[in-house]
Amino acid sequence: MKIICIGRNYADHAKELNNQLPENPVFFTKPDTCLLRNNQAFYLPDFSKDIHYEIELVVKINRIGKNISAKFASRYYEEIGLGIDFTARDLQQKCKEKGLPWEISKAFDHSAPVSQFIAKSEFENIDDVNFHLEVNGEEKQRASSADMIFKIDEIISYISQFFTLKIGDLIYTGTPAGVGPVKIDDHLTGYLEGRKLLDFKVK
Ligand code: ZN
Repeated sequence: MKIICIGRNYADHAKELNNQLPENPVFFTKPDTCLLRNNQAFYLPDFSKDIHYEIELVVKINRIGKNISAKFASRYYEEIGLGIDFTARDLQQKCKEKGLPWEISKAFDHSAPVSQFIAKSEFENIDDVNFHLEVNGEEKQRASSADMIFKIDEIISYISQFFTLKIGDLIYTGTPAGVGPVKIDDHLTGYLEGRKLLDFKVK
């Protein structure tokens, strides 16, 4: 399986990082070694002094597809969940300045905690699903999928022009404003429509 992450998909987050709004979805990938499941603890890596949390809605692909039109994209996923796109912001900044690929800052081991998944049929409107992140009980990020620049169906359609989507692939759909650093002993909890799905410690 592969993990595809969308960048700059919320206007307020693009603004906080001084990024321009994209004309098309911006995406990058993480290998399957990034996954961290079952709310296992995240261990801070030695190579960064500035690991940031980014909470994101995650879409799980359940059908193989290529060149999917947005009109039919909803047939390609049945479940959504929450994930964290951990980012070594210091390394990412250096890569950006030099115009280098930024995998070392985004695609390192265990940089993609993911929750259990919930059937999309449990939500009234998939394009208005609320989620938020708390760190040590304090709210840090909150958004709705209604705030996305590119909606889930558009994202699936766009990515599938370039990459064949396969069963089990995960799409991290971008993070809203409020990203920030984590430190040892932080407790991260992520909620999807008030349901606690992410609940893990930083070590
Ligand atoms: Zn992200």
